[in-house]
Amino acid sequence: MADSGSKNYEWKWFCSNCSDGPLSRLYDAYCPSCQHKRCGSCTIVKFVYKG
Ligand SMILES: [Zn+2]
Ligand SMILES: [Zn+2]
Repeated sequence: MADSGSKNYEWKWFCSNCSDGPLSRLYDAYCPSCQHKRCGSCTIVKFVYKG
């Protein structure tokens, strides 16, 4: 509970074109399924790691 300084989450995104995901915001600039480039319409979600 006292881990306010640690990075225990990661931003993921879902393709707005084919809904593939979750994709890595760091490593996947393009959707591997349809080659759609991440845009403002793609859904960004915050994945929190537990433990
Ligand atoms: Zn896609
Ligand atoms: Zn998009």
